[in-house]
Amino acid sequence: MKRGLPKVETEGLKSFIPQDEIFQWLEKTQNPTPERVREIIQRSLDKNRLEPEEMATLINADSPEMAEEIFEGARELKRRIYGNRIVLFAPLYVGNECVNKCEYCGFRVDNEEVHRKTLLTEELVAEVEALEDGGHKRLIMVYGEHPKYDAQYIHDTVKEVYTVKKGPGEIRRVNINAAPLNIEGFKKVKEAEIGTYQIFQETYHQETYEKVHAAGPKSNYLWRLHGLDRAMEAGIDDLGIGALLGLYDWKFETMALLYHTIHLEKRFNVGPHTISFPRLEPAVGTDIDSITEEYEVSDFDFKRLVAILRLAVPYTGLILTCRETTELRNEMLSFGVSQIDGGSSIGVGSYSEEDPEAFKKSQFLLGDNRSLDQVIRELCDAGFIPSFCTGCYRKGRTGEHFMEFAIPGFVKRFCTPNAVLTFLEYLNDYSSGETLSAGLDQINRELEAMPVSKAKDELQERMEQVKAGQRDLYF
Ligand code: SAM
Ligand code: SF4
Repeated sequence: MKRGLPKVETEGLKSFIPQDEIFQWLEKTQNPTPERVREIIQRSLDKNRLEPEEMATLINADSPEMAEEIFEGARELKRRIYGNRIVLFAPLYVGNECVNKCEYCGFRVDNEEVHRKTLLTEELVAEVEALEDGGHKRLIMVYGEHPKYDAQYIHDTVKEVYTVKKGPGEIRRVNINAAPLNIEGFKKVKEAEIGTYQIFQETYHQETYEKVHAAGPKSNYLWRLHGLDRAMEAGIDDLGIGALLGLYDWKFETMALLYHTIHLEKRFNVGPHTISFPRLEPAVGTDIDSITEEYEVSDFDFKRLVAILRLAVPYTGLILTCRETTELRNEMLSFGVSQIDGGSSIGVGSYSEEDPEAFKKSQFLLGDNRSLDQVIRELCDAGFIPSFCTGCYRKGRTGEHFMEFAIPGFVKRFCTPNAVLTFLEYLNDYSSGETLSAGLDQINRELEAMPVSKAKDELQERMEQVKAGQRDLYF
């Protein structure tokens, strides 16, 4: 395989984001009646993916009363489909060299204030050991876009991570957030047995996109927009999409995320596994305020857009990261966010090394700095069950043949039992005393809520095996 970054090729590619149509829907659906809004919420509660006209109507239902009904709709949908569990992961920054010029990112090529760093193999191992010592099982590995971090390199570093075992620790799923590759490159990365490949479009508004990405391969809108199509063609059927909020109007971006989902569903019969919606955060050497001046997303609108996404794509996982504050994260869990990170550190090398200047190796600054143990304790206190489950992807339950949660009873059959087993492992191996008792209480509540059944007996049997020291049991 040729080393280095792939050639950007966009001949014959067209945008599947119909910009004018999005503006028209947002215009036509203004001032919706409460009856229409309720009808749409009901369609979502009946587990239908919404159409663009319906999403635009919810976006335009912006009075506090209507917003509250939308929030309640999202909470109800979460209760019906997702149950109590929240999947936990940690980001692992591998290297912050980058050839692009993304105006908003601390890693951009012309940022002289950022300290450049790529983990050496022994440093990568030390980072993974530190994450395992904290109890993590699921990582997302993050890379700048640079000839050093080509497909082969991503492949090799993922493989390396899977080999690291410290005490009872191991990483069982590695997701990727990296630049879009060509088909050959995606195939190579797939060989390393990755979970989700995430690529955020940042902004789906082409003019804004071209303005904030002035140079480098990322400056090509279509190459990036079609990145996940190429991943799919290469056989990676577990994909994450996202928009970086604050660059352009959130209403447009939220609609575009739905159009991207519909495009993937139509073309490949499977939508994205996850959607991310990071808001712009301060970054070293970067004047974020001037970038977000016009389109900053308020907390109220942020909550609305997440609740609307929950309703619009009932079966797609939603990811909320430590970019947001603890208070907001806690509040938004009830809207159907399915994955959060915990105990994150985003300086390159900063899990294994105390570095008072870590922020200079960071892409941006975090809003939630709690430890994983603390996040977990608070999740339990709020009635959630933390999960480190990696069952689906290891059992091949991905892609067209399996749309997560689409199968009736799926959460009860797989997700909740797997959450209990992986959480019990965490409690036995890593938790502090206080978290241990909060966690065991939460597991008891989950068991009490389960009807007497063969499945429950099986779960309890496996729980005994975990208590006796067996690990990595899953349904
Ligand atoms: N270099 C690859 C790329 O750009 O796709 C992957 C890694 S990039 C470090 C991961 C994501 O971080 C970007 O897609 C962007 O959405 C987000 N990001 C960049 N700067 C940010 C900032 N200042 N605040 C919040 N998120 C940011
Ligand atoms: Fe590089 Fe990604 Fe940051 Fe852009 S967002 S500067 S491509 S690391």
